[in-house]
Amino acid sequence: MKALTYIEHGRFEMIEKPKPRIINSKDAIVKVTLSSICSSDLHILHGAVPQAKNGITLGHEMVGVVESTGPEVTKIKPGDRVAINVETFCGECFYCRRGYVNNCTSGGWMLGCRIDGGQTEYVRVPYADNGLTPIPDNVSDEQALFVGDILSTGYWAAKITEISTEDTVLIIGAGPTGLCTLECVRLYNPHRTVVCEADENRRKFVSQHYPDVCITEPSECGKILNEMTDGQGADRVIEVAGGNDTFELAWRCARPNAIVTIVALYEKEQILPLPWMYGKNLTFKTGGVDACDCGKIMQLISEGKIDTTRLITHRFPLSCIKEAYELFANREDNVIKTAIYQD
Ligand SMILES: [Zn+2]
Ligand SMILES: [Zn+2]
Repeated sequence: MKALTYIEHGRFEMIEKPKPRIINSKDAIVKVTLSSICSSDLHILHGAVPQAKNGITLGHEMVGVVESTGPEVTKIKPGDRVAINVETFCGECFYCRRGYVNNCTSGGWMLGCRIDGGQTEYVRVPYADNGLTPIPDNVSDEQALFVGDILSTGYWAAKITEISTEDTVLIIGAGPTGLCTLECVRLYNPHRTVVCEADENRRKFVSQHYPDVCITEPSECGKILNEMTDGQGADRVIEVAGGNDTFELAWRCARPNAIVTIVALYEKEQILPLPWMYGKNLTFKTGGVDACDCGKIMQLISEGKIDTTRLITHRFPLSCIKEAYELFANREDNVIKTAIYQD
């Protein structure tokens, strides 16, 4: 089968690989029907993910149909349509039992990083009962495509931010993950939602699809929040952008005693200037997604409460995936997300 493979820093190729087989009793083999490209894939290509192994098949956002399962898989059976979770987790260790699956002692981000991922025809998924979420009949592959990765991140970010109906929520960044976060923040019906985004086309996308959301750019963000909140600032801030100044923007725009959630992955160190924020009494929450709510997210999609299909702006067959990478990496043609079909 054809597999988009990370050869070494800066180089990936479509190469022929054998179809994967079940290795452990909790594995499943899934025939991939649709996959996507994530900015984390670009981080691997740029050599910014040290744990990524040379020779692995890229891809950790995908859906498919289960082809076979190991003897200890109980919840999933061949023929099931499933979304694949970016995180591999055992479900039994100290962290998994508490829902902190990102810190699973025998898992974490493995697919498309440390083991073969899904930008190919078939993928082996370890701990299949935890890593696969069945897709209901009324949910399409495109609707389910982001459940296991960026939508999990958005859902988790909104959940840990403790949003109430009285809150003014600021989301910094309207890229794919920022938009998924916006979809999930809306589930909590906050009083007001403000989205701050530097890119003009992305601001247009938000105003077109979410007319009730206030959209602003970084230089205006503080002023607009001050006007809106009688000079207090945002009650809740979610930083998804990961830009040079966006961490500072996040805590500056927060009111005293606010919660500031940092989902962004930075390329540089950030400064937490405690003397400047003394007495502001902020609560910071940081880190990588605990993708433990895929079942709930799938149900919300099935009920029509979350819809991320509008994020798919471009579609390519697997044989043209390198073109899709180029378009995505260079943000050509106002791309937000690409969907990769089997040829
Ligand atoms: Zn990703
Ligand atoms: Zn675990």
